[in-house]
Amino acid sequence: MVFEVREVDLAGRIGRIYTRHGVIETPAFFPVIDVARQEVPIREVVEAGFGQVITNAYLVWRRFGAEAASRGVHSVLGFDGPVMTDSGAYQILEYGGVEVGQDEIVEYQKAIGSDIAVILDIPTGDVSRSEAERSVEETLRRAVEASRLVEGDERIWVLPVQGGRYFDLVEESARRAATISGYGMYGIGSPTVFLERYMYDVVIEAVRRAKLHLPWGRPVHLFGAGHPLIIPFAVAMGVDTFDSASYILYARDGRYMTEGGVYRLEELDYLPCSCPVCSRRSPEDLREAERHERTRMLALHNLYTISATLRRVKLAIREGRLWELLEEASRRHPAAARAMSLISRHTDMLSRGAPLSRGSVKGVRAYGVESLNNPKLQRFRDRSRLVLRLLAERYGGGRALFKPLEPKPQPGECERLVGGDPWIIYYQPFVGVFPVELCGAYPSIHVDHPGLGLPREVLEDLAGELEEAARMLSESGYSVELTYCSGVEWSSRLSSILAVRGLRLVDSC
Ligand SMILES: [Zn+2]
Repeated sequence: MVFEVREVDLAGRIGRIYTRHGVIETPAFFPVIDVARQEVPIREVVEAGFGQVITNAYLVWRRFGAEAASRGVHSVLGFDGPVMTDSGAYQILEYGGVEVGQDEIVEYQKAIGSDIAVILDIPTGDVSRSEAERSVEETLRRAVEASRLVEGDERIWVLPVQGGRYFDLVEESARRAATISGYGMYGIGSPTVFLERYMYDVVIEAVRRAKLHLPWGRPVHLFGAGHPLIIPFAVAMGVDTFDSASYILYARDGRYMTEGGVYRLEELDYLPCSCPVCSRRSPEDLREAERHERTRMLALHNLYTISATLRRVKLAIREGRLWELLEEASRRHPAAARAMSLISRHTDMLSRGAPLSRGSVKGVRAYGVESLNNPKLQRFRDRSRLVLRLLAERYGGGRALFKPLEPKPQPGECERLVGGDPWIIYYQPFVGVFPVELCGAYPSIHVDHPGLGLPREVLEDLAGELEEAARMLSESGYSVELTYCSGVEWSSRLSSILAVRGLRLVDSC
C-alpha cells in the first residue's frame, strides 16, 4: 500500500504516503531544493516543518551526472527523508537538453534512488488550445510508453495530468491517465502564470475536473503551488501534496508571504508573524541585512508560513471544520473569495466527505451567506426535510408547533418532548427546520452563529424553509402554529419577513 487515508473532510484528507525513506503525512508540501544553489541549508528547511523535499532530476544530472547515480540523491542533498524528483521537463527545454529522453530520465531517477519520481511530461503553460492538446496527447503517449519501465518499481511514479485552463482537456487527460498502469500517484500541472496572477479559480477548477476522474485512493499532487492562500482551497478539493520554489524565489525578490497575501519587504512596517525569524527581528533588521542573509531569512519565514498553513488545514480536517477554514481564508484576498465562490457551486462533490458525525467533530460555526453552502449544513437540511415528511406521514396529523431554537434545549429536554402534543418543530438560521426527533443528530443543535445582524439572505433562506415546511404539514392535515421570540433579534426580523409573505407568527416570549 502506497497511500492510506485516515481522516476526511470535504474532499480533503489527512493521509500517509509510505516511501522507502519514511512516511509522509499529507497534506504535505515539498520545498524545491536547487542542487546548484540553495540559500537555505536543508537542515533549516527540515526545522521549519518539512520532512520531505523535491529536487529536479535533470539539474542533478547536469551537475552530478553519473556521480549522483553511484552516491544517490539523498547523499547529494545531505538528507535522508523522502525525496521526490521532478523530471525537469521545463529545464530540458530551456537548456536544449535534447540528449535526455524519456527512458534516460526515468532510468536516472531510479539510479539516484528517488522515492517519488515523475515521468518526462510536457507541461501545459498558458498556451493555445492546440498546443494544450499536444501537451496532453504527448504526456499520455509517454505515460503509456514509460509504463513498462515503472510498473512494479519500488518508487512511487507520478503521472502528470495536463490541460491547463482547457478544462475539458484536463478531464480527458485525467480520465485516460487513470487507465494507465504503473502509477501510484497523479500530478496536476498548475501553470505558474495562473498562480502568479492570483487566478486561483482556474487552478481550483482544473483540480476539480481532474479529481472527477482520478481514483480516490491515490494521492494527488499539485505542481508549483506554494502560496499559503491557495493551499486550503486545493486541499478541500482533494489535493494531497504540493511543491514549489516560491519560498526562495520570493525571498530573492524581497517578498514576504503571509496567509493573506505577499508583501514587499520595503512596504512592511511590522512583521505580522511569530516564526523564529520574525519574532526576534524588525523589518529594518531584514532590510539592512546583507543580501544573502536577507534571502535566507525571508525564505525561512516563507517556509514557516507555508508550514503553519498546512498545520491549520490538518487541524481543521481533524475537527471537521475545513469549510469554516475556507470561509475565513476567503476573506483574506479577493482571489481566495473567487476560489470560495467556485467551491460553493460544487458542494455536491464535497459533501461526501463532510462528516455527519464523528467522535472528534466540533460544532459547526456559521458566519454569513457562505455558511449556507457548508456541506455539513446542506446535508443536514436535506435530511431534515426528508425526516419531517416521513414523520408527518407516520403521525398522520395533529398539532404542530414551530419554534425558534432559542434558547437551546436543555440536556434531556428533546427526549422528553418526543411523542408529545403538540409536535415540536425547531428552526434556526443556517440549520433550517427540523423536528424535535432530530435534536440528537449532528449538527442540529451544535451550530454556533452570530445571532445579531445576520445577512438578510440568511433569514430569507430560513423563511423559505419555514414556509415550505408549514405548507407541507398543513396539506398533510396538521394544525400548524408558528411562534417566534420577540426578544431575539434574528427571530423578530424573521417574523417581519414572514409577515410580508402572509404568514403570521405568534410571540411566545
Ligand atoms: Zn515569520
